[in-house]
Amino acid sequence: MAYDRLLYKNMSGSGGPEDSCPRATMNIDLNIDNRQRALDEFMYGPANPAQDDVGGNAEFWQSYADKFNDSVENVMTMRCENCTFFDRSPEMLECIAMGIGDEGDPDQSIEGGELGYCQALDFKCASQRVCFAWAGRR
Ligand code: SF4
Repeated sequence: MAYDRLLYKNMSGSGGPEDSCPRATMNIDLNIDNRQRALDEFMYGPANPAQDDVGGNAEFWQSYADKFNDSVENVMTMRCENCTFFDRSPEMLECIAMGIGDEGDPDQSIEGGELGYCQALDFKCASQRVCFAWAGRR
């Protein structure tokens, strides 16, 4: 599917100011459902990327490398942050912040988790994670 079609599918369409935002940025249940699919079908992870530096995710990374028939060192460079589907445009970050709303500090949530929106799997993902749908960008 072409990128522009991915970008505009699943918009909320409710007529509000969030009309141009993907539905999963506004609907936590939908976001969780889509993230679960990423976990189940695309090996989205690791659960806690902060453990990478101390070797806490070694099992995850070895399993992930085995799937790609590649080295751990190489697959660890294939993160959401350099995936073509990772969207941290100002407009998308505004959508994410609106979706978080009063239930938390949007800036802290977005920057703390380095959140963006996955245009391929339709959920809010974190820059230091990976998944099978990764597509490198230049
Ligand atoms: S497709 Fe890309 S941005 Fe989406 S979860 Fe996978 S690696 Fe992250």
